[in-house]
Amino acid sequence: MSGIYIHIPFCKQACHYCDFHFSTSLKKKSELVSALQRELILRKNELLNEPIQTIYFGGGTPSLLNLEELNAIFETIYTEFNISENPEITLEANPDDLSEEKLNELANSKINRLSIGVQSFFEEDLKLMNRAHNAEEALKSIKLARSKFDNISVDLIYGIPGMSNERWLENIQILLDLDIPHISSYALTVEPNTALQKFIEKGKVKPVDDAAAAKHFEILRTTLKNAGFEHYEFSNYGKPGYFSQNNTAYWLGKPYLGIGPSAHSYDGNCRKWNIANNTLYIKAIEKSELPLEIEELSITDRYNEYIMTRLRTHFGVDLEEIETKFGEKYVKYLKEQSVILFQKELLKIENDVMHITEKGTFLSDGIAADLFYID
Ligand code: SF4
Repeated sequence: MSGIYIHIPFCKQACHYCDFHFSTSLKKKSELVSALQRELILRKNELLNEPIQTIYFGGGTPSLLNLEELNAIFETIYTEFNISENPEITLEANPDDLSEEKLNELANSKINRLSIGVQSFFEEDLKLMNRAHNAEEALKSIKLARSKFDNISVDLIYGIPGMSNERWLENIQILLDLDIPHISSYALTVEPNTALQKFIEKGKVKPVDDAAAAKHFEILRTTLKNAGFEHYEFSNYGKPGYFSQNNTAYWLGKPYLGIGPSAHSYDGNCRKWNIANNTLYIKAIEKSELPLEIEELSITDRYNEYIMTRLRTHFGVDLEEIETKFGEKYVKYLKEQSVILFQKELLKIENDVMHITEKGTFLSDGIAADLFYID
């Protein structure tokens, strides 16, 4: 099984914390949609006609596409690829795009899962982050979306300067009251060269407080666990039957084809990534050239990636799988490196599968680094 990721590189305005690839000028939208269709055709053999189980529109802001544009992309995908019987088809959407009319259109299209970028239900947080929607739109869009879609994920951001524990809990409670079955939640991070970084440097915004973020993470985990969610990946929580198939396939190392400017692809051996520039992307694709770079992954690269992604998920690090995929040398190394982590109670092992303990959850990146193999 494989997946297709489509990157829609447009946003209405730039969120202050964001370092993804997007343009706030929508002038080239229809040219870009044609280029996406053309890239799909040019690269159709890369997935070796494997059935496609997930299609994911990410961004940027995919909800800026109109129904005609979405259907044009679907037509190409369904003509050129072997789509499985019940694919998961997700569209990332922003609350300010989700009018009743838009939701009706989406509900009648092939989209069967929405991932909504709410981030917070509070005006002060939304303003600080420069989100395009306000608190009222956030709530209204989720209620409307809930009445049209069963499979919904909502994104929330914690650790926002000035956000109290009570306000954070209220954000979570709103989603529980609306019976949202999947929540992705990330700490606000200050990326280089973003507006947020500059505002913090100039003292216009308070710095991000790591201790407050850790507390928010703890509140989130406990509240969602008590409400019947499984914490199945560091940033993702789902009710049974609602885990993201797209993300799960990615964490399990399944192949996927990334289409559009800045999109990444993986075929089990190589990573490829497209140029992060809309104009240059369109020009190259119009000439039937692929504007991408390729990195062949060594066995050590793949072992390290396996450790990194698996420790963040409930699947854990399976010693038998390590031996089959990478060989005895890596199992031996992993066992040696993990001794101290077991002693510190940051790792545990059950049936030859290593997992991070509750104590180690917030330290998963550092734990993974301790287990990386250095050639
Ligand atoms: S809407 Fe999403 S992709 Fe666009 S600027 Fe905001 S965070 Fe970045």
